[in-house]
Amino acid sequence: MFTALREGLRPYTQAMREYALKADELRDMPAEYVKDDFFRPIWQLGTPEKFGSIGLRGKNNQTYFGESALELAIWTEEIAYGDPAMLLTLPGPQLVGPLISKIGEEHQQETFFLSFLKKEPVWASFALTEPSCGSDLANIQTRAEYTQDFYKITGEKKYVGNGTRASWVCIFAKIADKKGTFPIQCFLFNHNDLNQIGVKRTEINTLGMRSAKLAHFVLDRASISRQHLLGYTKSPLKRGFTGAAHVFYRMRPSVSALAVGVSKAAIDYVKENIQLSASSEIEIARLRWKIKKAQHMIYRAAHQADQQIFSQKVSSMAKWYANCIVYEVTRKCIHFTGPDLPNHPLIEKWMRDARMIEFMEGTTNIHKNMIGKELFKK
Ligand SMILES: Cc1cc2nc3c(=O)[nH]c(=O)nc-3n(C[C@H](O)[C@H](O)[C@H](O)COP(=O)(O)OP(=O)(O)OC[C@H]3O[C@@H](n4cnc5c(N)ncnc54)[C@H](O)[C@@H]3O)c2cc1C
Repeated sequence: MFTALREGLRPYTQAMREYALKADELRDMPAEYVKDDFFRPIWQLGTPEKFGSIGLRGKNNQTYFGESALELAIWTEEIAYGDPAMLLTLPGPQLVGPLISKIGEEHQQETFFLSFLKKEPVWASFALTEPSCGSDLANIQTRAEYTQDFYKITGEKKYVGNGTRASWVCIFAKIADKKGTFPIQCFLFNHNDLNQIGVKRTEINTLGMRSAKLAHFVLDRASISRQHLLGYTKSPLKRGFTGAAHVFYRMRPSVSALAVGVSKAAIDYVKENIQLSASSEIEIARLRWKIKKAQHMIYRAAHQADQQIFSQKVSSMAKWYANCIVYEVTRKCIHFTGPDLPNHPLIEKWMRDARMIEFMEGTTNIHKNMIGKELFKK
């Protein structure tokens, strides 16, 4: 499926892997990578064609922009095959892009997306998780108070991917409405806003995905004009979390595809670099079969999302299964290297990176809950 797109991505994927270990060691992007113009089509992933994105030319001469859930899952799988942390570290609209497309005002979309067409890489972050709540998103504590055309935002955000390097940050907060309820809304900040209003951004040390620079934000009555509220002319229900939930649902298959990309990379690495016994070869064949199964579940979930068919069960099963597989594969690959592991630092790194996937786009327990709820509803 999407063979021409996969082939078009391969040179970038291979080039990205060259930087993976250095980025892990530095916990940052190597300077040569940031200056390398070659990666620009990848850095624009998720910038819509109508804003002038160059897209990626596939081997069939078709241009791909990563706009459907299925296409995005293929992009993710292929880039994660190069290296999963390099995927998370990619400049570009990332998770924020679909949110802006869905609920942003026209002028918000324009300033946001046009910024990614610059020569230098530009990062965007999505700040939802808080120190006291990750899975239980409805209970976020960050509050925005409205006074005379300005919002004053107070709260903390945790594990914000690319948080300290981002030029754009989408911050979720609750706003008290006239009925005394607190719908979740979303604010778009650019680099200058963040500095002017004194948002503190500090880096968190993580076991894996080190180059993604996960960050902790503190906002203390950070004052921002109403024009920074995403979709401020729309009703609170359309612009808030309900709009965002639709985006999460479309993005989940691509996070699951990340697990498949790393699993395939680890297996191919072992096949190419390690002398295997006959029983290990059988084990590898079994693992490949399981990876294929995960792939099919993900493509089905992505296809459903593109068809506007909302089944939590299908996408949660795909995420849960893909997560189990990437644990199993990376753990077994360590078994295949044996005591020679220090000579295969990519395998060691991918095992650390794989541990982090569980927490992205819903933990395994949360997906089990969702599946249970949908099954028992019937
Ligand atoms: C690499 C990486 C990148 C990330 N990037 C971002 C980002 O860009 N922006 C952002 O906002 N966040 C980001 N996150 C944070 C991520 O979304 C959260 O880690 C995730 O939502 C889980 O929240 P938590 O860590 O607070 O864990 P908790 O929600 O506290 O969960 C801890 C444990 O309790 C279990 N648990 C929780 N609730 C239940 C329940 N009801 N029933 C059963 N078990 C339960 C969970 O399964 C888990 O095992 C990132 C995380 C990682 C690892």
